[in-house]
Amino acid sequence: MRKIYNIVLMTIIIYIVIIPAEGSELESIARIDTTLNMYRNNNVKLRQIFQRMPKGGDLHHHYSGSIYAETYLKYIEDNDLWVNKINYEIIDQTPPNLESNEWSKISSIKADGNWQNTKVKIIESWSILYYNYVSEPTDEHFFATFEKFDIPKKNTISEGLIELRERAINENVSYIESMFISVGKLPKYEIDQIFDSTLFKLQETKDKAIQDSLEIMFKYYSSQSSYKSIANTHNQKVDSLHKVLKLDDYKFTIRYQNYVVRVLNPTSVFKDLILSFESASNSDLIVGVNIVAPENNTISMRDYWLHNQFFRFLKNKYKNVKTAMHAGELTLGLVKPEDLSWHIKESVFEGKADRIGHGVDIAYESNSDSVLKYMAENQIPVEINLTSNEFILGVKGSSHPISLYFDYNVPIVISTDDAGVLRTDMTEQYIKLFQTFSNFNYLDLKKIVYNSINYSFMNQKDKLRLIEDLDMRFEIFERTFVN
Ligand SMILES: [Zn+2]
Repeated sequence: MRKIYNIVLMTIIIYIVIIPAEGSELESIARIDTTLNMYRNNNVKLRQIFQRMPKGGDLHHHYSGSIYAETYLKYIEDNDLWVNKINYEIIDQTPPNLESNEWSKISSIKADGNWQNTKVKIIESWSILYYNYVSEPTDEHFFATFEKFDIPKKNTISEGLIELRERAINENVSYIESMFISVGKLPKYEIDQIFDSTLFKLQETKDKAIQDSLEIMFKYYSSQSSYKSIANTHNQKVDSLHKVLKLDDYKFTIRYQNYVVRVLNPTSVFKDLILSFESASNSDLIVGVNIVAPENNTISMRDYWLHNQFFRFLKNKYKNVKTAMHAGELTLGLVKPEDLSWHIKESVFEGKADRIGHGVDIAYESNSDSVLKYMAENQIPVEINLTSNEFILGVKGSSHPISLYFDYNVPIVISTDDAGVLRTDMTEQYIKLFQTFSNFNYLDLKKIVYNSINYSFMNQKDKLRLIEDLDMRFEIFERTFVN
């Protein structure tokens, strides 16, 4: 009798509480979808809506390129640095050719009444502001900015991290995974050159015996006395900044990736990578390793196979370290068609990447169908950077492969790449996505937002905490939207 009573009671509860709630949730989503569709071509209205929408995480995010030029400008202004009045280079020491009249201290430029004008010129050289698409190739302009703000970048790390945190909170982004600062360098050794020539030889025939050579190299470098200390010093620095600045709280979480620059000789890249893996495997805050710098660079193209063998080797050695790899940030015209045919495949199958950055040339891959299926089956997400791809590669609209990934059910995340240099933000990525690709509806965007937490490299406990938080943020957003 009691059993029947319980069943009846449960049925009543389901009908009264749960079913209407689900019904109303579906109704809310349908209403949001209708409204969003109505505004698909209304940039301003979409800005207003997406600015408030929870956006989860920004997983493809280079720290120094994400800081807006204004923050770097404040540093050079406060410290009255030297400005080259022809090319707007900045230096912090008296210039050697002072008599040439090319250089002025900011205080003198101010005294001459030219600071406002000079400031704009500096921002132009540090970002894509007012870029005229003529004076130099877009990719060269973009990648050249990083060296130009090198001095302020090194001296504003605290301000920069706080800027990222505040911007994220303001646009309802709860998590950032930042390619942060480099771990450091092992010294040069005489044996480096010998290792280099061995690696080049193995690359010629793509000889899988390379894994044995890497074992020898790894043993050599990891037995050096500075190996662990460089990694530890880096971890302590990151840990201390993170704690002193109190970056994590209930509103915001940040984690870091180590990165290596790929336009160096193979042995240098390998040495940087082993430090990066060693550091990441011993830190709760550094959650992954990445490889950066222009993919169409001669060395990046030459050593692409090698780099993926390095990742394969180190992923096997450091099983707890996750990796995201810039792969397929290429397009027709930038490189030979043959060079568009294998990078993503290589990073997925050989480099064992946990996430792919950009993946723009997927349709040019010789076996794109099987790569896409593999990525979907093995839940290897692609990090899509719409603003970045449009500026650097000129790839946008129907030339962009996002819908291809979507059709194959490859997990997608949306990210900024370099919000500061590209003068963009996370909200703009969602506006671009929704405006350009009418096959994406509100639920698809919501899935992308959840992907950015689910496929982040955070530990499971942090992930669950941020998913719960995201549920709450969406509940508030949807309720407010409908009302
Ligand atoms: Zn990137």
